Amino acid sequence: MAFNVLVIDDSWVMRSMIIRVLHLSGLPLGQVFEAANGREGLQILDENWVDLALVDINMPVMNGEEMIEEVRKTKATADLPIIVVSTESNMDRVESIRQKNVQFVHKPFTPEILRKTVLQVTGVSDGQFSGENSLQKNGPDF
Ligand SMILES: [Mg+2]
Repeated sequence: MAFNVLVIDDSWVMRSMIIRVLHLSGLPLGQVFEAANGREGLQILDENWVDLALVDINMPVMNGEEMIEEVRKTKATADLPIIVVSTESNMDRVESIRQKNVQFVHKPFTPEILRKTVLQVTGVSDGQFSGENSLQKNGPDF
């Protein structure tokens, strides 16, 4: 079983970092989709099966919070596992985002935190898929 993952962030550098951690996480990856804002993300979700979405909050066109509201309202994606990856530090806003049934990883993140959250959200146990790559051994330092 492989997981199709959608990474939504207006920074391509951040998308690259997240995708690198995904590749090193031990999660068996299927297709990896990228979007630069919520609107593009919704379009990809409309046209493809996605098992996990990592979503930035502050983005142009449509922000992550608005996108997540749409995702939860739509029957096909209502239960999509979502990890919000954001610099958002306003606790009221973080709390309101958390109530949309998402996990929250703060930027800047360590690869290990993101990896643990990805495995937790997908229900894949640590070491279940032992790839040749290991973050502990040769992980990037963000
Ligand atoms: Mg952003």
